Amino acid sequence: MSKTASRFVDFRAVKAAVTIEQVLAHYGILDRFKRGQDSLSGPCPIHQGTNPTQFRVSLSKNCWNCFSDCHCGGNVLDLVAKKENVEPMQAANLLVEWFQLDRAQLNAAHETGVAEGKDTQAASPTRSPRGDVLPPSPSRPPPKPNASPTRPAKEETGVNKPLGFRLELDALHPYLAERGLTPETVTEFGLGYCAKGVMAQRIAIPIHDVKGELVGYAGRWPGEPPEGRPKYRLPDGFKKSVEVFNLAWAKKEPPELPLVIVEGFFDVMKLWQLGVKKCVALMGSSLSTAQEVLLAQHLTPASHVIVMFDEDDAGREGREDVLHRLALRAFVRVIAFADEGFQPEDLKAEEAKLLGVRP
Ligand SMILES: [Zn+2]
Repeated sequence: MSKTASRFVDFRAVKAAVTIEQVLAHYGILDRFKRGQDSLSGPCPIHQGTNPTQFRVSLSKNCWNCFSDCHCGGNVLDLVAKKENVEPMQAANLLVEWFQLDRAQLNAAHETGVAEGKDTQAASPTRSPRGDVLPPSPSRPPPKPNASPTRPAKEETGVNKPLGFRLELDALHPYLAERGLTPETVTEFGLGYCAKGVMAQRIAIPIHDVKGELVGYAGRWPGEPPEGRPKYRLPDGFKKSVEVFNLAWAKKEPPELPLVIVEGFFDVMKLWQLGVKKCVALMGSSLSTAQEVLLAQHLTPASHVIVMFDEDDAGREGREDVLHRLALRAFVRVIAFADEGFQPEDLKAEEAKLLGVRP
């Protein structure tokens, strides 16, 4: 790669990786801002105003406006460009330096197209409780043979297109009750037994993208699969690592609640039953770059994140990596369990409360 190429940094990925709040903190002026439900307001750092409400920031849209002398607004790059009086490209490079962003990762995130999600994220899914569409979770993340929990050298790229059809599912299959799911949870996540088709003889778990569009199903064999069949199967071509299970719903929960990150579908569903609704699954024990970018769009330095992986080698290795990477973006707490093999789906209501996972 040429020198110029390595210097290239994708604008959209940088915008997705850094919040305006982080930039205000970087300038050491965040404490001058008042926090609202989804906003920050304070004196304008660009024209050095003194009016305490003229400069407003939308946290969810990650954009700002000065309602006084500047009469302008924009995204995080615009803010730095104005404040530093530089071009947007230089502003992007400043952000890369200030926040020690990884250029290769940013550009890879761009190639996957996830960074574009930023522009559409303000339009949060309008779908009411998942109804006929839904995202559920498999308890055991499909283990990647020979893959370390940390990022693989080559990550999946691209996006999953909205599916355009729904499987016909039987929500009354006994396996669902065996796994401890209530009918309410089954309905909420829209899962059920699939008699025929690609997920034939499996419990199909709908997977939605961050906008709440159904993009695929994971199929869990109900019980121990016969020799040679995997516990989980995903449709051919489905890119698991560019989705974060349940994020479309978790992101609608109040910002003051911690975001709980787990490995599997069943962890999410069982915790949902305990009242932990702001919970997402990586569908495995490793955080992909695309997933990191998606999560970053919904985190600020004031956000709390709880990482609760399975108590096994893959889980321990994976959570270290997640802690490392998300700690730059939020306050991250890792919960370890005493018992080898313990999974978050096994948590009891009182335990979840003691751990501060449950409100
Ligand atoms: Zn101003």
